[in-house]
Amino acid sequence: MSSTNPTFRPDTGRDAGRSAPAPTSNPAVAYSRLPAPAATECAWCGHLFDGGDEYRPGRIKCARCGVGTTSPWPSDEQLGAAYAVWYRPQGGRFSGLGDKILARTRSTLASKLDRVLPAGPVLDVGAGDGTLVGAFRSRGREAIGVDPYYQGDSPHIRAVELEEMTGSWSAVVFWHSLEHVRRPVRSLRHAATLVAPGGMLVVAVPNAASIQARLFSDQWLALDLPRHLVHITPDALLSQLEDLGFTIERVSYLRGGQVLFGWLHGLVRQLPGRPDLYDAIRRSEAQQEAQSPVRRLYALTAGVVAFPVGLIGTAIELATKSGGSIYVQARRKG
Ligand SMILES: [Zn+2]
Repeated sequence: MSSTNPTFRPDTGRDAGRSAPAPTSNPAVAYSRLPAPAATECAWCGHLFDGGDEYRPGRIKCARCGVGTTSPWPSDEQLGAAYAVWYRPQGGRFSGLGDKILARTRSTLASKLDRVLPAGPVLDVGAGDGTLVGAFRSRGREAIGVDPYYQGDSPHIRAVELEEMTGSWSAVVFWHSLEHVRRPVRSLRHAATLVAPGGMLVVAVPNAASIQARLFSDQWLALDLPRHLVHITPDALLSQLEDLGFTIERVSYLRGGQVLFGWLHGLVRQLPGRPDLYDAIRRSEAQQEAQSPVRRLYALTAGVVAFPVGLIGTAIELATKSGGSIYVQARRKG
């Protein structure tokens, strides 16, 4: 993101009076300078921001519920641009091994859920390229995905919003998708109406209250502005699911994935030149900015060197139940 539009309006007030932003490699700071209106209310609980909230580059943390809302609040056009082809190219995002690992973890998730769900179809919200839907179907379970940005031709994935779906489902899964929607609580409420008695809501999101989120702050991998519109905490998520009449059956701070990688990416970002490990492991057509071979090698080498520290960070997060992602299974009373 390299918007240097001189007509930008800073959203915090702290930068007021500055005529043009200095170039920055910090995505959160760059985003906070986009010419889009600042968020005026919490995307999670609807609280109107009144100055008592915590303003940070690229997002505002709600004083009432503790959830962060991306600010400026991107237009549909800006979001569309942020999901351009490089984000998820046809040929896969990562080098061969990375995409294989991704398919393997979806397959594990599908088989674990398949064992604990009642009979009936599964709805995958934010289905992406359909890996999870495919994993369920290969186990003989009916599964449908929704993804408003879907452009492929699978008959099992529909390019619609969740709110357009009806029916009765054994589970509705939000696998790293709830943080991408404009009204996440409304989406959860609608999803709750679709779950059959005894069925489940399954949610994995980045944990905005994790140690890595606090430590790396604006450089945290899972801040992912502007695609992540809300920055959710375990407290907010669990209490919302309970309010919807669901019983929390399982909470994990590792299952949501990305915990160790979040540490490695954050550690590597601290080095001179701000090397980008996430871009370095992506195929060249899936990189946000083209990376020279030297810069890529620098990031990968730094990632290897940071590995032991990343492992320690991950272990501490798991021990203190504050890992970089949160995974929840909540069951509707049957
Ligand atoms: Zn709030």
